[in-house]
Amino acid sequence: MKARAFLQKDLPNGRRGHEEDNILTNIKSYQIAIKTAVFLQEMGFKAKPIFPNFKYREDVPGWEVNMIPELSLKLIAIRSGTGSLGFSGNVGLKGYGALIILGGVVTSAKLTPTDPIPNEDSFCIECKLCQKVCALRMFGSDEVDSMTIGGYTFNCAKRVNLARCQIVCGGLSGLDKSRKWSTWSPGRYPFPETDKEVMKLLAISINNALKWPETGDEIGVDVTELDDYDSFLNALGDDKEKLVQMIKETKLTCGNCQLICWGDPKETAENYRILTNSGCVLQKENGEIIVLPPEDADKLFSKMPLKHQKLYYKEFGRKSKK
Ligand code: SF4
Ligand code: SF4
Repeated sequence: MKARAFLQKDLPNGRRGHEEDNILTNIKSYQIAIKTAVFLQEMGFKAKPIFPNFKYREDVPGWEVNMIPELSLKLIAIRSGTGSLGFSGNVGLKGYGALIILGGVVTSAKLTPTDPIPNEDSFCIECKLCQKVCALRMFGSDEVDSMTIGGYTFNCAKRVNLARCQIVCGGLSGLDKSRKWSTWSPGRYPFPETDKEVMKLLAISINNALKWPETGDEIGVDVTELDDYDSFLNALGDDKEKLVQMIKETKLTCGNCQLICWGDPKETAENYRILTNSGCVLQKENGEIIVLPPEDADKLFSKMPLKHQKLYYKEFGRKSKK
């Protein structure tokens, strides 16, 4: 299972194997949407596939942080009963957990609306392990966020600050709050307590990551190599060049809140055990990524040249003012 090799931080292919699998599954889902849209168009209806990522409502102030999609597949899925909303805020299905990829089509065809999945049939058992595998605890509070769509209310854990996910899922930092394990990112910054510290960390870590040595890792997927590249490209519309480039440059280092939740409490607990015992990532000066037990990673990191350490670690907030 590629997700498990990713969680386990297997070298050399644990990260890349899952990344390719994830991107190709997203592409497959979009290709199904393209074919469905063509079918509806042939039936005389208007229809357009929804691209699942990278397209945001740039007319909404703060869209860079909030990343509001043109149309949320997640909200459509929970209201229509395609999946249900888990505590993590991910959509999932009984028996599969959150390990699913969504797709969708907008159409003028008059389809019969369906109701949400009843709470008792949700995949989510509120084990809250997803909360503990988010290195910067993006949904780490016990407060709940509610949203009402078409007369139904849905709940999940409150997003404390989306920038926490941007830092970790963006690959800028990966060391967990416990400092006992990390994501695939070599960033080792202290845990930010306040929103102010989060924004400081975001700025520092973006700047530093630009100076990291090349890993030599293969990343992303080149969609020009797809069999039906032309129909894929046509469906992307005006943004095609930008989107093709973004798919090519995608590098996955987290996704833990989705990846550990398999819809079976024993398997989810095993994923949690695997991840939290998977060690910490370091990047050597030659760019090589290595994984070590936490104490060994601390020791080796502290022996690295200060100039190299400063690319992955900086005190900020109260301590840095001393
Ligand atoms: S890990 Fe899955 S089942 Fe457990 S609380 Fe999170 S979403 Fe729910
Ligand atoms: S993707 Fe990673 S950083 Fe983002 S919320 Fe999930 S666990 Fe946290």
